[in-house]
Amino acid sequence: QGPVITIDGPSGAGKGTVSQLVADKLGWHILDSGALYRLLALAVTHHGMSFEDAETLKVLAEHLDIQFEQTPEGKIDIILEGETVTQALRTEEVGNFASKLAAIPEVREGLLVRQRAFSQMPGLVADGRDMGTVVFPAAQVKVFLTASAEERAQRRFQQLQQKGDTVDLEELVATIKERDERDANRPVAPLVPAAGALVIDSTDLTIEGVVDEIMSEIVK
Ligand code: C5P
Repeated sequence: QGPVITIDGPSGAGKGTVSQLVADKLGWHILDSGALYRLLALAVTHHGMSFEDAETLKVLAEHLDIQFEQTPEGKIDIILEGETVTQALRTEEVGNFASKLAAIPEVREGLLVRQRAFSQMPGLVADGRDMGTVVFPAAQVKVFLTASAEERAQRRFQQLQQKGDTVDLEELVATIKERDERDANRPVAPLVPAAGALVIDSTDLTIEGVVDEIMSEIVK
């Protein structure tokens, strides 16, 4: 097992970008745990499975057929049951469905072992909601990265616009608040900072500012 840095927080706080930059600086691996919940959501949809049957969902989570493939451009493609789903994973619908599945204790249990398997040498930057509280409680450095709901909606709005998607900003703020509410109040692994976590509010910070703050925590 290698060293672990956990970066938790609500959606749109910049965890993905920050995790990637920190992992690049350290030459470590990355775990995008949200992608696992999203992959499960896609698989459940593909198989037309019932939401109600928690034990079956757990088995599916444990055995989900996922592969990561390096593209010629040096990016990572995500393959689910033989199909490339890198883009399909990123939609709001899949995110919302993932968040509903994530409230089911059996689903979280099913994904736990798979997440822990990512911690190998040389080290891991784990991005999610419960990386510091549940999955890697012994992590060397724990970060809780947040930003106001309005700022997070604004960032997401820009991302979607760049992709050519038209969305309503007000609606996005409402969906983000709704998802925050669900993530914070669920009975299992509610979204709260881990004990001893460095809390960073990125509302008025640049990406570089956030990365610097985390890096200075690591070299301490
Ligand atoms: O981060 P991302 O938006 O990809 O995650 C999708 C959903 O998966 C989140 O809204 C959250 O409900 C759930 N999730 C979780 N625990 C994690 C990562 C994601 O509950 N560690």
